[in-house]
Amino acid sequence: MRPIHEFFPQLKQPQKVVITTHQKPDPDAMGSSLGLYHFLTALGHEVTVISPTNWATWLNWMEASDKVIDFEANREKSAAIVNDASLLFCLDFNILSRTKFLAPLLEAFGGTRVLIDHHQQPDVDSFHFGVSDTNKSSTCEMVFDLIVDSGHKDLLNNTIAECLYAGVMADTGSFRFSSTKASVHRMVAELKDKGLEHTKVHEAVYDNFLENRLRFIGHVLLHRMEIFYEYNAALIVIPKRDLLKYQIRTGDTEGLVNYPLSIQGIKMAALVIDRDEERKWSFRSKGNVDVNTFARQYFQGGGHFNAAGGRSSESLEKTADDFIKAMKESGHLLK
Ligand code: 5GP
Ligand code: MN
Repeated sequence: MRPIHEFFPQLKQPQKVVITTHQKPDPDAMGSSLGLYHFLTALGHEVTVISPTNWATWLNWMEASDKVIDFEANREKSAAIVNDASLLFCLDFNILSRTKFLAPLLEAFGGTRVLIDHHQQPDVDSFHFGVSDTNKSSTCEMVFDLIVDSGHKDLLNNTIAECLYAGVMADTGSFRFSSTKASVHRMVAELKDKGLEHTKVHEAVYDNFLENRLRFIGHVLLHRMEIFYEYNAALIVIPKRDLLKYQIRTGDTEGLVNYPLSIQGIKMAALVIDRDEERKWSFRSKGNVDVNTFARQYFQGGGHFNAAGGRSSESLEKTADDFIKAMKESGHLLK
């Protein structure tokens, strides 16, 4: 993979571009994709954003989200667009398998593949150009850098600012995590200068749920959370019947894994949800507890040092037991 600045000259000729991101896109994935979409469109490119799966409806306030194609619902149309494009941007993930059923199409893609991402252990051989920087707060910050470093700061506008702000806000825990470097605040100052109303974005992302989601959180915290004080860890296990009873939709469980970290002494929180095709794990930690390595070692996953995910094809009960064993085995790491 060559450095991204060597790719900048290619932005000069109009091209057919596809932007894609990880499955079940979150605010950083969707915000960086649409921020880049608006920028490349302004440069004269023909751009399509394809998501591997559906996404939370509370992201639909982002401008042009109605033009994003859900691959699982539009496989043939997506294949035609990918096969016709000369440029592919991969945002907020770094290994093609994170795009699920879309991966074979991306692997077969004959044009130039560009990576922009901040997760650990990138599969650099899959990309021609790119930037992979785990010190960056968010992929949205990296799209901002691309716009500025390629000499097009003048094209930043409020539409792009809203998309990018959503991602950096979400991935920094509203500017709380240690990834919130001075560069993040400088970027936000630039976005404010473009007219960004940050309160509006915050409310669109965090105050935009239905009542049932709050009741569901109450139920989960009361009945589905177990605390292991001797390991400074917590586990939340959510069976399918809870998702059905509370009519939980894509995106409604976002943020749930963070709650146990507000308990004194808890340094690691794990959440597993019984999804149709797999058991999906989320891990969050504080300080020097490395959940990226934990997720890789035990749950076929990965991510960041303090936020990672994984999966299991075992039953919910078995994978929850596997977690407890893994926690005991790694106990010394959780202190
Ligand atoms: P979340 O718990 O919000 O789904 O994911 C936390 C972080 O870990 C995100 O940055 C996400 O991209 C990453 N992640 C989640 N699941 C997986 C996985 O199965 N494999 C890898 N490599 N990363 C994951
Ligand atoms: Mn991200």
